[in-house]
Amino acid sequence: MNGPQHRPVADNAELCKHLVEWGGDDLPPALNPLVARFRDSTRPEFYVSQGWWPLLVRLEQRPATLDPTYRVSQVKSKFAVLQFYLEGMPRGDVGPAFADAIREAEAEAARTCELCGKPGVLCRSREGTYALLCADDAGTAYRPANDSADGSDPP
Ligand SMILES: [Zn+2]
Repeated sequence: MNGPQHRPVADNAELCKHLVEWGGDDLPPALNPLVARFRDSTRPEFYVSQGWWPLLVRLEQRPATLDPTYRVSQVKSKFAVLQFYLEGMPRGDVGPAFADAIREAEAEAARTCELCGKPGVLCRSREGTYALLCADDAGTAYRPANDSADGSDPP
């Protein structure tokens, strides 16, 4: 593997803390480079809770080194699974690297609490709502989806 150099993250732990504890009404400036990649950056189709923001910042920094012009159409959590959609195909021979980077981020999200960024698992509420949560955030309302007695899969 002799891929391009990744831009270093100044201080990952500090950035994660900053993002996860962000209390502003708008998205934090650290997400601006990602937001700028949406067709309408004033109304990005970005529907992800802040526990996943750090991994999205890291993801944004990776493919940017492969194709600085790539565009994003939508980033969301669907049944507690991260979905990261590119708009169109990336330029050049970088498709597989993009796909790998996105898959890695989606895999990381699948074990990261979407509220606080700590390790988490897929959980399900009694009403059938899915969320990726740590034990603290799951509380009594959610329990690990894999514990469900009925063994049903997410829709
Ligand atoms: Zn949590």
